[in-house]
Amino acid sequence: MSIREVLDKNGLRCTRQREVIYEALAATKAHPTAEELFSSVRSVEPGLSLATVYNTLDALTACGLVRRLPCPSGACRFDAATHDHVHLSTSDGRIVDAPEDLSDRLLSGIPAEVIAELEQRMGVRVRGLALQVVTGTAPPCSTPERRIGG
Ligand SMILES: [Zn+2]
Repeated sequence: MSIREVLDKNGLRCTRQREVIYEALAATKAHPTAEELFSSVRSVEPGLSLATVYNTLDALTACGLVRRLPCPSGACRFDAATHDHVHLSTSDGRIVDAPEDLSDRLLSGIPAEVIAELEQRMGVRVRGLALQVVTGTAPPCSTPERRIGG
């Protein structure tokens, strides 16, 4: 399906700028901020403003084509991969996708009855799951200590 068809199907008029922004986001796994996306598309689309990038990301998010990822520190990041998957938030501020098999195992471990109760108690409809795992620095190598002559 072309980007034009994807936008049409989701009720968004396909403008060149929307096309360029969505295409750039869909082509990366780096979960860029609006500013990072703006930097990467500016060379392709020189007339583009940061405000247009924000407005386009809002429109794409509202129609479900893009996910906005909450970031504990700093600006929101965006993802064109809207299927349920797990993110790792790294100590250096990046967000990376967990391996798909581990992602599926983690998400399938969330009990359906808890989701149902969440919907009921919060009065919402859960459209998808986006688990974000926060990581620290790698643990030190755990080489067993050897004692000589002990
Ligand atoms: Zn992702």
